[in-house]
Amino acid sequence: MAEANPAVDVSAAAESKKAKKKAEKKAEKAKLKADAQAASGGAESAAAAEEDVSKGLYGDMPVIRSTDRPGRTFVRVDELSESLADKTVLVRARLHTSRLTGKYCFVVLRQQCYTVQGIVTKGDKVSKQMLKFASGIPKESIVDAIGVVRTVEKPVTSCTQQNVELHVQELFTVSKSEPRLPLQIEDASRTEAEEEEGAAGPKVNQDTRLDNRIIDLRTTTNQAIFRMQGGVVRLFKEHLASRRFVEIQTPHIISAASEGGANVFTVGYFDRKAYLAQSPQLYKQMAICADFERVFCVGPVFRAEDSNTHRHLTEFVGLDLEMAFNEHYHEVLDVIGSLFVSLFKGLRDQFASEIDTINKQFPCEPFQFLEPSLRLEWSEGITLLRENGVVMDDEDDLSTPNEKLLGRLVKEKYGTDFFILDKFPLAIRPFYTMPDPNNPKSSNSYDMFMRGEEILSGAQRIHDAAMLTDRAKLHNIDLEKIKAYIDAFRYGAPPHAGGGIGLERVLMLYLGLKNIRKTSLFPRDPSRLTP
Ligand code: ATP
Repeated sequence: MAEANPAVDVSAAAESKKAKKKAEKKAEKAKLKADAQAASGGAESAAAAEEDVSKGLYGDMPVIRSTDRPGRTFVRVDELSESLADKTVLVRARLHTSRLTGKYCFVVLRQQCYTVQGIVTKGDKVSKQMLKFASGIPKESIVDAIGVVRTVEKPVTSCTQQNVELHVQELFTVSKSEPRLPLQIEDASRTEAEEEEGAAGPKVNQDTRLDNRIIDLRTTTNQAIFRMQGGVVRLFKEHLASRRFVEIQTPHIISAASEGGANVFTVGYFDRKAYLAQSPQLYKQMAICADFERVFCVGPVFRAEDSNTHRHLTEFVGLDLEMAFNEHYHEVLDVIGSLFVSLFKGLRDQFASEIDTINKQFPCEPFQFLEPSLRLEWSEGITLLRENGVVMDDEDDLSTPNEKLLGRLVKEKYGTDFFILDKFPLAIRPFYTMPDPNNPKSSNSYDMFMRGEEILSGAQRIHDAAMLTDRAKLHNIDLEKIKAYIDAFRYGAPPHAGGGIGLERVLMLYLGLKNIRKTSLFPRDPSRLTP
């Protein structure tokens, strides 16, 4: 040990001398480098200040805080066409992509579903610095671009505005995106076929899309889907309003579960419990009892079902209607049948370009329907299934595979993707369903199907308080809990029927999309409560 210490000391001293020398050398080197940088940087920045002919024509705009309102005219990307050739325009859009090649920076500007190619060209008015700025703007930033519209010799096939391009003279960022995007719009826009072929770029899975829904929603496909969703609601309302239906608003916080106790979300309501409405059913009927004759409503419907399927959400938008009739509930079936026909026609005729856009990413056969709508009875449907090998009892409900098979068989036989199945077995329908007067096992109830999946359930409802009480008892329903509902029928109620439709399902099936989450803006399912 004693011998070892001096040796250690000697080598430590040598080491520290060495380290000192090294540090000195490093500091000297760093100083030289800094001096050189200062000299060249100074010269460069001086040159830059001198050379930047584009000063004031590009840069990051301060946050718009509504300081002034100069009233400039903004031209929309979809308006950029030959008619504006050689005109200078101002466009506000997202920077979809940018590519620097030599003295050109190609930018694609995107506004909703529309894209145009912009070119920033280094020249008399565009400095090297402006070119660098343009190529460095992160994708998805919002920019204001001023430029001259020029017609092109060859169509720009990668953009929606194929006959013109924008020769950019001024470029400002209005709101910059983070440089790293959680998903790329190009990746989220790839067709299923391209994905299967393993086209360049990662596949964006459903969860990534939904976790980053605001970016996912920017794809042209999603822009088109949600324009169509609005279209379904508008067409539904227009058709019914023009047929004397009154739009009503029903409560969504209720004191008792509307469709039985299961599958209901409980919420705290001051010092007691309340529930989220599973359907506006009872309120629509009460509106009929209150003499509105024909009502409809569009609103959220909540189902606490742990159904993790392609077609169930825990919150969806219900398109509901209820109508008093004079003689037969088929008066109502006629109205609902024609409602669907006008919906399908409206979508086909008013949303052709959206359908085209969506089909590019998710190809699908056009939706076929008959006018008037095809109506089959339960017994006919079951016969068709049995003829094709299905074994089932008359009163068994349709399983999902049998529902799909029936849809295929009906399509083959009648050439329609939409049909009405009437006269469901009484045993599988809710207590308020009117029994069939001619067959104790049957009921005056119906479902409607699109591409072999249920999109509407409905029935003639019992409008007689005594009969309703009996049926509720048979179903072991606590009468106390539905007292207000039954009481509504004690003061004279017209015969009536109606139904409930799921908005997201209608659109999913019309477009042949395979998952209901694609037609819900911010879907809610058993495992998703955000965003
Ligand atoms: P399913 O048998 O498919 O679960 P359901 O018989 O419970 O549906 P209804 O209560 O009759 O459906 O609701 C009427 C309509 O509302 C359905 O035809 C469907 O279009 C829509 N719908 C029902 N449940 C859901 C759900 N969980 N998610 C999305 N839409 C739904």
